[in-house]
Amino acid sequence: MDERLKQRDYLLRISKAITAQLDMQAVLSLVIEYAVEIVAGNYGLIALQQQQDEEFHVVASYNLPQTNWATFEPLLRVLLAPNASADDSMWAARTAADTLGLPLRQVVALPLLLANTVIGLIVVFRAALNVAFTADDRVLLQAFADQAAVAVQNARLYERAVRESERLHAIIEEAADGVMILDSRWRITTFNRAMELLTGWSREEAIGRPCAEVVGLQTPNGENLCLVACPLQARADMSHPIAEGWMTTRDGRKRYLQTRYSPTRAPDRTFGGAIANVRDITAQKNESEQQLTFVSVISHELKTPVAIIKGYAGTLRRPDANWDRVTLDDGLQIIEDEADRLNDLISNLLDVSRLQAGSLPLIMAPFALPTLAERIMQGIAATAGPEFTFELRFAADFPLVVGDEDRIRMVLSNLLTNAVKYSPQGGTIRVGGWSEGDQALVYVADQGIGIARENQERIFERFYRVEGKLTRTTQGAGLGLYLAQAILQAHGSRLAVESQPGRGARFVFHLPLEHHQLPEGAVEPETSGPLGDGSMEEADRV
Ligand code: ADP
Repeated sequence: MDERLKQRDYLLRISKAITAQLDMQAVLSLVIEYAVEIVAGNYGLIALQQQQDEEFHVVASYNLPQTNWATFEPLLRVLLAPNASADDSMWAARTAADTLGLPLRQVVALPLLLANTVIGLIVVFRAALNVAFTADDRVLLQAFADQAAVAVQNARLYERAVRESERLHAIIEEAADGVMILDSRWRITTFNRAMELLTGWSREEAIGRPCAEVVGLQTPNGENLCLVACPLQARADMSHPIAEGWMTTRDGRKRYLQTRYSPTRAPDRTFGGAIANVRDITAQKNESEQQLTFVSVISHELKTPVAIIKGYAGTLRRPDANWDRVTLDDGLQIIEDEADRLNDLISNLLDVSRLQAGSLPLIMAPFALPTLAERIMQGIAATAGPEFTFELRFAADFPLVVGDEDRIRMVLSNLLTNAVKYSPQGGTIRVGGWSEGDQALVYVADQGIGIARENQERIFERFYRVEGKLTRTTQGAGLGLYLAQAILQAHGSRLAVESQPGRGARFVFHLPLEHHQLPEGAVEPETSGPLGDGSMEEADRV
């Protein structure tokens, strides 16, 4: 009786030790070590089935190196076979023993049972020839195996839970959308990488803060939507609210975000927090605003010349009037100019739609840029008015450039038209260039109203026009620079602007030179261009 109590106490202690462990491999090593100890064995192994209906494999051993585990597979099959005899087991054990040269002379095997299902097998060997395992040994080992099965199952469940949580964490972390998880008091508990990129807040800073502080969307009148009308406040019905609005990121960018909330329930069914998916839809927002602008700008732009043409045509053909030649010519000239403007606008629009369709074919060939620039400049100078001076600044031996001449004509003509349009006081307008390595750098500079830094990127957007008195009174659809930029990008180039308000603007781009080979000792015509080599007049620097 005393012996029994001692055994039970011992079993209890080791069960506690193994169930306290959650790491699978540590549990298995402890189990097999104790199993061998309980029945005074010398060697031992545990086999488990990783998945239902799969084979059993050795997963831990005592006194048997891992390199030998495969040798026990035939023995495992015999031990698990429903009607294998003790002799079969002994024989299989002996085969393994012979292969390994180990004294595995006695064998006892007991299943790890969980809800009547065999999940594994404990096998213990003794080295001594004449000390067979007794029925008591079996009872003791089975009592232990029952505890061990629970410990193994716990470790398995724990392992699965950890894996699952790592998988979920990875899914959240790698999600393309921003994901944040809020607790029942709207504090951020999870903040993925996409959220960091979207908001400029680091995870360390964001976690623990109220979401309104981090992702405070703005209402149209500049209030914090999350504070004045938190979309989750109406959480009673557990619907999936969506909130949209502009937010200023930690690093000062303005982004238009769409947040979808999935409320979660606490165990007592009350509001337990929410999972928020956050998406940056700035591009779509701008696009839809641009579409609206498009319709109003284009209809206005088309209507104005049509109205002028109609007005003049109607006046000139009045049956009761007898116009002299000069009046007739003036009127017809205006009709022709306005028709040209309509034509330009329509071809710009066509190019925009080709661009959107991804087909703006280029016909690349060498051409003389100074000649092209001069021709365009003359055309524009003819209608620009006496307050303007035009200057062409190319070295006489400026090399040929390679590009689509028709498209580059469009770029220069848009830049020059703008230079005139946005210089209400007139001034000097220069077109020039210099070569640098195998590239030609080309600029168009004016002394007009200039462009504030915050608008310098946006002027290249479709339909974007800087707000101001002048823009309101000058014609324009906000397409010229967008097209110019797209054309240059198709050439592998880029249009850049340098400007300060009130001090003019200079647009610069580059094109490849045809053969850039200077004779030895030759000097570049204008080595560093207009940006400060002293070769340009002060007025060129902005
Ligand atoms: P548009 O001239 O038809 O409005 P653009 O795309 O050519 O369209 O130009 C976009 C905006 O950039 C203009 O509305 C104007 O506000 C600004 N801009 C362009 N060129 C100049 C310039 N040379 N000087 C000052 N502002 C300019």
